[in-house]
Amino acid sequence: MLAIAKTRSAPGLDLIEVPEPQVGPGQVKLKVQAGAVCGTDLHIYQWDSWSASRIHPTRIIGHEFCGEIIEVGAGVSKDRIGQFVATESHVVARDSEWLAAGLGHVDPDTKILGVDTDGGFAPYAVIPAENARITSRSVPLGVAALQDALGNAVHTALAGPVKDRTILITGMGPIGLMAVAVCKAAGAKRVIATEISTYRTELAYRMGVDEVIDPRQPEVKERIGTVDATLEMSGQPSSLELAISATKPGGRISMLGVYRDSMQSVDLNKVIFRGLALQGIVGRRLWETWEQMAELFENGMDVTPVVTHTVPFTDYEAAFALMAAGQAGKIALTFS
Ligand code: ZN
Repeated sequence: MLAIAKTRSAPGLDLIEVPEPQVGPGQVKLKVQAGAVCGTDLHIYQWDSWSASRIHPTRIIGHEFCGEIIEVGAGVSKDRIGQFVATESHVVARDSEWLAAGLGHVDPDTKILGVDTDGGFAPYAVIPAENARITSRSVPLGVAALQDALGNAVHTALAGPVKDRTILITGMGPIGLMAVAVCKAAGAKRVIATEISTYRTELAYRMGVDEVIDPRQPEVKERIGTVDATLEMSGQPSSLELAISATKPGGRISMLGVYRDSMQSVDLNKVIFRGLALQGIVGRRLWETWEQMAELFENGMDVTPVVTHTVPFTDYEAAFALMAAGQAGKIALTFS
């Protein structure tokens, strides 16, 4: 089969011929139906310092994908054959004490599909059985594939109360965009976003945001007013500062955006005296976030506008060029 892989320690990716993967104990084999390109895949393409330190070529990439289970390994129920599933990319040991304590998402020994082990940007993939999450066939393929990323949005949004609240989301990258739909489906009263790109601002309105504000405007704080919670999706120091001043006393700031320079100064006395909760958010809760996500889909959550392009996986170069130019939401890859 053909697969999208990092074959050498340098920028770029290659389409290579590899044998079909063999299913092992505790694993399932998927016929991959769709994939979704993630910012992490772009980092791997560009070969930044993180990828160079973490990835060992040759590695098949891709951690957001969906498909049908066609074979199961020893110890996995045959009833799973035929299930339509999507991937949780974080692989945590079955006997992890973190997982047992409900903290599987912060297990320091987590391995990531398509990063530490071969991923799914290929017509067939083999993954641990518990990482194959049953998905309703009513979810469109491109959306089913991106649930790992959508789960980040669900985890961040639902890390505190949303219903009847005013929520500020700083940064309308793909996860920020999806967080708009999550907050709306979870009953938010009002969702305000900040974003500088006109392309992403337009997408935010298609996701159902009430108002998008350019954070470079001098009157940005007045226009936002006070909010019950902020989801910080941008990794921009100025957005964190804005979150601290806009979030009302007793509110929460849930931080998912990663900072280029992790050493930042913020007004800590504002955090303390206003009783703000600053929360770091990573991954998805195993498996609570997946259950919440399935429930949100049942309640009519619609994230389809975030899938702006669908291309055959063999056209991956075009997909990565669009991602690098910031002219895409999520890009779906097809494998048939
Ligand atoms: Zn991802």
